[in-house]
Amino acid sequence: MSASEPYQRVVLIHYHEIGLKGHNRAKFEQRLLKNVLGLTAAHPVVTVHKISGRLVAFLKEGTAREEGQACASFIARIPGVARVSCGFKCPREVDDINRAAVEALSEAEPFETFKVAARRAHTDFPIDSMTMNREVGAVLCAAYPEKRVQMKEMDVEVRVEVVQNSAFVYAFSIPGVGGLPVGSSGKLMCLLSSGIDSPVALWQMAKRGAVCNAVHFSGAPETSSASEFLVEDIARVLERTGCIARVFTVELGSHQRAISLECPPPLRVILYRRLMFKVAERLARECGAKALVTGESLGQVASQTLDNLCCTDASVQMPIFRPLIGTDKQDIISTAREIGTYRISTEDAPDCCTLFMPRSPETHAKLSAVEAAEASFPEDEWVEELAEAARCQIFKQPK
Ligand code: ATP
Ligand code: MG
Repeated sequence: MSASEPYQRVVLIHYHEIGLKGHNRAKFEQRLLKNVLGLTAAHPVVTVHKISGRLVAFLKEGTAREEGQACASFIARIPGVARVSCGFKCPREVDDINRAAVEALSEAEPFETFKVAARRAHTDFPIDSMTMNREVGAVLCAAYPEKRVQMKEMDVEVRVEVVQNSAFVYAFSIPGVGGLPVGSSGKLMCLLSSGIDSPVALWQMAKRGAVCNAVHFSGAPETSSASEFLVEDIARVLERTGCIARVFTVELGSHQRAISLECPPPLRVILYRRLMFKVAERLARECGAKALVTGESLGQVASQTLDNLCCTDASVQMPIFRPLIGTDKQDIISTAREIGTYRISTEDAPDCCTLFMPRSPETHAKLSAVEAAEASFPEDEWVEELAEAARCQIFKQPK
């Protein structure tokens, strides 16, 4: 290789939890590989291979540092990715490794201290890791005389990984979101409002590897369809990292009106919610989802007291997952900001939650009273007609 020719830019994708999965490991790696490849169409990724316990995305010739690092930052947001590094692939020659290390370190600015950490995945390479650390370190010290080597708590670690036919050298490295690749944990049906909590709940389950379908209940025709548009915007954000499969939209306004006219006012909200859960369960069965997900957090609002949660649980047979049940609002907000849904969620839009609300909702509902109030409505028929009338929007997910 001529001294001026640039090395191929690569993004190294590290995963750890997948490593714990024993015999399932190959399946998970394959899933993650497909997800990364499928989601990076807008980035300069040519191909993704599994090499020596990690994935390597090979970037187009001539990809600039900024583009490479932007691609790495994007991949870091994909569930199942524990850490991402951006660097170079070079020949397994000492001179090449040294030159690639100088180049990689220049891309990790700003920094004051660094160290070299070399690893041989193949012991047929004649130089051991300790010797490589020393030799590459000496070359870097000569190239960056104003910087210092520091063994602990250094600003940058220059990694050299020697594999079968080549070496990977990188210094830019950022943490990923972790979790498991979407598509490795079955299907769920998430109740998705345009509020702050439920997009976070959905994302957390996607991060555990679930394929997440969602159902949104709008207040139409009693309210505008504004919440439906916000939910679509939220779904577009979640779609970028492959976290959402479909969104069903159900207009609940007329049924809420019917409930509000007959039901004792304090129990209204619980009846609305039980109807939502039943429709969600019906749609879940249709698309092979085995559990429901909500963004509820214990005691956050009247409908989320323990007694009221028990009353809504009793309306369905499927398990209900509440990933945020023990999470404080502030922490939910931080996650919503991180995943990019917060701004959309704070836009105001009436949905079924704001419609026909009683002045003082029950906070300690008794199931017997709730069931008695519900008995006057043709719930089974309603569930059928609402599920039948649901509109479905499909989002992009890697095959
Ligand atoms: P969020 O911020 O997610 O709207 P919230 O704090 O406003 O939650 P509630 O309105 O009591 O709380 O809703 C609790 C959960 O019920 C939501 O997290 C969501 O899972 C579900 N839910 C509420 N409203 C709707 C809706 N219009 N469509 C679908 N699911 C909903
Ligand atoms: Mg809400």
